[in-house]
Amino acid sequence: MAEPQRIVIVGAGLAGASAAGALRDRGYGGEIVVFGTERHRPYELPALSKDVLLGKAGEPAWVREPGFYADNEIDLRLGVSVLELRPGDHTIVDSDGAVRSYDRLLLATGSRPRVLPGAQGHVLRTLDDSLALRSALREGRHVVVIGAGWIGCEVASAARAHGCRVTVVDPLAEPLVRVLGPEMGAVFRSLHEEHGVEFRLGTGVEGFSPSGVRLADGTELLPDVTVLAVGATPRLELAEAAGLELAEGGVAVDAALRTSAPDVFAAGDIAAHDHPRHGRRVRVEHWANAKDQGTHVAGSLLGLDEPYAKSPYFFTDQYDLGMEYRGLAGPDDELVVRGDVSAREFVAFWLRDGRLRAAMNVNVWDHGTALKALVDAQATVTPEQLREADLGALV
Ligand SMILES: Cc1cc2nc3c(=O)[nH]c(=O)nc-3n(C[C@H](O)[C@H](O)[C@H](O)COP(=O)(O)OP(=O)(O)OC[C@H]3O[C@@H](n4cnc5c(N)ncnc54)[C@H](O)[C@@H]3O)c2cc1C
Repeated sequence: MAEPQRIVIVGAGLAGASAAGALRDRGYGGEIVVFGTERHRPYELPALSKDVLLGKAGEPAWVREPGFYADNEIDLRLGVSVLELRPGDHTIVDSDGAVRSYDRLLLATGSRPRVLPGAQGHVLRTLDDSLALRSALREGRHVVVIGAGWIGCEVASAARAHGCRVTVVDPLAEPLVRVLGPEMGAVFRSLHEEHGVEFRLGTGVEGFSPSGVRLADGTELLPDVTVLAVGATPRLELAEAAGLELAEGGVAVDAALRTSAPDVFAAGDIAAHDHPRHGRRVRVEHWANAKDQGTHVAGSLLGLDEPYAKSPYFFTDQYDLGMEYRGLAGPDDELVVRGDVSAREFVAFWLRDGRLRAAMNVNVWDHGTALKALVDAQATVTPEQLREADLGALV
């Protein structure tokens, strides 16, 4: 396959910028054009709900240093969106009205926050969102966080650090229950309750009035600040209009991150990836996935046919709890715990049919390599081994 002359990257987030950098790292000498709707140069999102929101950091981690793009002849078009993808004739139309051709194209458009009908309040996706929310988190204010997922929990933690009164609302019975299940969700609930967060669980939001949030159980909350943290939706409009195959709420890609359209690839939050290790499509909204798929897809854009095979990896920081989660478990998987849950120093494992599906280390940092190897191998292990054995020896 001839080396492409021009590669267009749609989305100047973590996946897109990682791909652009990796293309140059691989020695690609052709043209690279990166389109980004935002005016900031590419940055990473995790600090937006952590150190930036806490006021500990003035800015997020940038994917590359300021001079990198110009020094590497990467044409970074900030503040310019791609409005149309025409795979049939290998062109895109941008928001300046220009029609541009490509030889290969990467879609890395990420996600946007979900919103609720009639809702007014803060969302948290961009640096500007984070700075706006930070300035609203003032001592003594009542903050209502709608949604007890990862972002909702991290916002609650930051709001408490700013001295706000915090109420978290969710129709489910525990925070984070979809990913972690009820027992581990309860660990996070008690962490937040110990830090003064009030939960309204098992009751959804029924509607919004100009001053308040009406819950399904009839109560009305009157917050100073409302935060909508009800998940994110992949930005699929270009892919949909171009007729690309969709799956798992994202753009279907094969093991090497190729979409159904010739010369069009996808990576990061939008990619529903045919995962060789899991034997099914996997779409995750994780920092490591965007970074690693972005780096990997550079090879695919240059014609390599190597499967992307990394296991999902996720982390969070809330108060003094740090956690890493590797793998992909389901709600019916068997939970095994090693360590001291009440001290919040433990490793949780999820087993299915005797094989390890996922592991989560909470405030325990010395098993990382073994956990990664065991999860990657989907090791056959017993609950007793996971509780007692030297994990390194199980690898
Ligand atoms: C507040 C926050 C905290 C997070 N914390 C964690 C964490 O602790 N751990 C973890 O594992 N993950 C975390 N994540 C998730 C992780 O950051 C994302 O999964 C990751 O950033 C996805 O990268 P991406 O490149 O796919 O998308 P994005 O980072 O969303 O980048 C996509 C970019 O494309 C641009 N774009 C979209 N459409 C167009 C278009 N048509 N034309 C031009 N540009 C376009 C967007 O403006 C955006 O800048 C967090 C996410 C958020 C929002």
